[in-house]
Amino acid sequence: MKKPELLCPAGDFEKLKTAFRYGADACYMGVKSMSMRMKINDESGDVLEAALRLKNKLGKKIYLTMNIHAHETRLNFLDKELARLTELHEQGLDPDGILVSDAGLFQLIQKKCPWLELHVSTQANVLNSSAIAFWKKLGATRVVMGREVSARELEKIKANLKEQNIDVEIECFVHGAMCMAYSGRCLLSNFMAVRDANEGMCAHTCRWKYKMYLEEEERPGEFIPVEEDQDGTTMMSSKDMCMIEHLRDILPLELDSWKVEGRHKSIYYAAIVSKAYRQAIDLAMEEKPPTEELLELIESVNTRGYFTGFWYGKPGSEAQKYSDRQGDYNENFCFAGVIRNVTGDTMTVEVRNTLKKGDDLDIITPTDIIKLTLDEFKHGVTNEVVEVAHPGQKFCIKLKAIEGVEEGDILRKRLKKEDLVKNRIKVELKTKKLAS
Ligand code: SF4
Repeated sequence: MKKPELLCPAGDFEKLKTAFRYGADACYMGVKSMSMRMKINDESGDVLEAALRLKNKLGKKIYLTMNIHAHETRLNFLDKELARLTELHEQGLDPDGILVSDAGLFQLIQKKCPWLELHVSTQANVLNSSAIAFWKKLGATRVVMGREVSARELEKIKANLKEQNIDVEIECFVHGAMCMAYSGRCLLSNFMAVRDANEGMCAHTCRWKYKMYLEEEERPGEFIPVEEDQDGTTMMSSKDMCMIEHLRDILPLELDSWKVEGRHKSIYYAAIVSKAYRQAIDLAMEEKPPTEELLELIESVNTRGYFTGFWYGKPGSEAQKYSDRQGDYNENFCFAGVIRNVTGDTMTVEVRNTLKKGDDLDIITPTDIIKLTLDEFKHGVTNEVVEVAHPGQKFCIKLKAIEGVEEGDILRKRLKKEDLVKNRIKVELKTKKLAS
């Protein structure tokens, strides 16, 4: 059975290093002015150069996203980005593919940088074998299928491609956020937040809470509210896709790449999803299901609730998220910190969430999960013993080193009731700020 590539998101260099470290075979990252996640990504050419050097050193792959639907003025940015890629090419540094959805950009990149492999982004909404054949004919080496294609459809698509002798790589999403429109083809975010989803700036306005009103023709201005509950309705709000328990079902499709969504998310997410899917894929190859530990791991990131997307056909109401939880926190765990240094018998932890004496932590290494109750720890600079550490300004604490723990390992905190209440308040405030 063909082993698919595990392709993970990398919103910046740190996330890239984390995803590779935790098991990703390949990562996708943005080109600043041309990517669907343009608000993050590299600020300078040095980051891209470092990223390409790193993937070469590790024998991994990087795909660069240039998958916006470009207005005419955006074409000016393309030349700059291509000049930069040409300079890197001359140094022997090339990405392994460029993700494009706009036919105009596809054509221009092909003309100006013919050595670059072109992948058709999910934003092109490819749903059938004829569309794949079309892009292949134009020179694409890989097509990322729309998330709306089911496993049964993929089976037919693969058979049709084989029959026509069309050899092109197929990539599919197996995990991550969904979109109520066809992958970003939506103007809701432009309308509500003046942020264009088609240019990489979606504000996820479909997830906001909305109140609906009826207005009777004869009584203009009298609005009758239609409410699902006291929080309004989140009728456009989709749960997240998660296929970790179903990988053995889709292995026979012999897809080339299984993709995880989430370049906006934290290094904690990058570590957890890369580790969970790495191990789940390796187990699936041995025809084994994911372990309970892996299922708990994938549940320990912030999620809006999981479902299987369109893999088993068109989803119904189970795909929607009706509860008031906004999905910005997890009920059981939170990201606690990153191991920044291990020297002798001391390890330094960059604090990412308030930590205090007695907290129950898990150190997640690429191969292990080590439990720890926070006992004595010191201020990272003054070396004074402290009982509470708050995140901010890369604040660090020092702890006794633990065997097997290395720089780059991630810590999560098991939440207690009082932490959960604080997190709920934080989310409420954030939601109000976004909506105002
Ligand atoms: S606002 Fe929602 S539906 Fe629109 S592009 Fe963003 S995620 Fe998709």
